[in-house]
Amino acid sequence: QRAEFAAFKSLPSITKDGERLTIAMNAGLRDDVEALETTGADAIGLFRTEFQFLVSATLPRREAQQRLYKAVLDAADDKLVVFRTLDIGGDKALPYLRSDDDEENPAMGWRALRLSLDRSALMKTQARALLEAGAGREIYIMFPMVSEPWEFDAAKALVEEQREWLIARKKLTPHKINYGAMLEVPALAETLDLLLPKIDFLSIGTNDLTQFLFAADRSHPKLAERYDWLSPAILRFIRRVVRLAREHGVPVAACGEMGGRPLEAMALVGLGIRRLSITPAAVGPVKAMVRSLDRSALLAHMEALLAKPPDDMRAALADWADENRV
Ligand code: PEP
Ligand code: MG
Repeated sequence: QRAEFAAFKSLPSITKDGERLTIAMNAGLRDDVEALETTGADAIGLFRTEFQFLVSATLPRREAQQRLYKAVLDAADDKLVVFRTLDIGGDKALPYLRSDDDEENPAMGWRALRLSLDRSALMKTQARALLEAGAGREIYIMFPMVSEPWEFDAAKALVEEQREWLIARKKLTPHKINYGAMLEVPALAETLDLLLPKIDFLSIGTNDLTQFLFAADRSHPKLAERYDWLSPAILRFIRRVVRLAREHGVPVAACGEMGGRPLEAMALVGLGIRRLSITPAAVGPVKAMVRSLDRSALLAHMEALLAKPPDDMRAALADWADENRV
């Protein structure tokens, strides 16, 4: 946290024209939660539950999972926390949870919700840990890599089954569960109208979405600079998702590294995104950007740019930011 941004810690994320945005942060371990205080983030918009599994030599037991989730909720106090169910597999392989086959394309392989639905004992254990940790509170559960609406249905049913199990045993459960899906597989956009009526919130995972939209490995060094987050393809795609979500009255956030850069975050706001979840170090700089922004002017400018995209979208957006002292 650079000193110049420390001043923004206690200031709300309000644009110059009075729009309140949510600047949340990403986390994965108990100690990450301290950053809520140091950065002044509004919430934890993405809690990557697989981190506990990645730092452990053996499968974390339900009690350990529940302890972590409860500690996170307690530490976050009145700020909301979105728990993402396990995103294991691909580059996040676990030695103690081996898949039988070597995968040629792990990012497109047996990972995340696909693995969780097939290994339902794993998912049930996690669901129970989340419900116990959130007993008596309102909680937020989000599923990664949803590719088709039925996967969301199956995942939600699994959690609901655990809730009923607990209720039948007179255990205290959360008084409200909000269910969300991540949009990071482009195919989901084609059936999003079918999914939206079922979900309480949507979060666009810009890391995987970019990788799949461009068919470009997110960790390949030779491709790192090749495709720009500020390309018309990505921006138009996100705009379409935001519009559809708005028509259905479903709140939509963007998480992933894209929103952690002020210019990219500005572009996302220009597409109608009101909630970002970003790396803690970016909260100060992005808040500063938001507070210097005339959102309605940006929305209009973005429309014009996307109607007839210039060759260099990045330069065009940077010029607008300069001219408008963003
Ligand atoms: C993403 O894909 O954008 C995302 C937020 O999830 P992860 O980086 O953990 O895959
Ligand atoms: Mg992802």
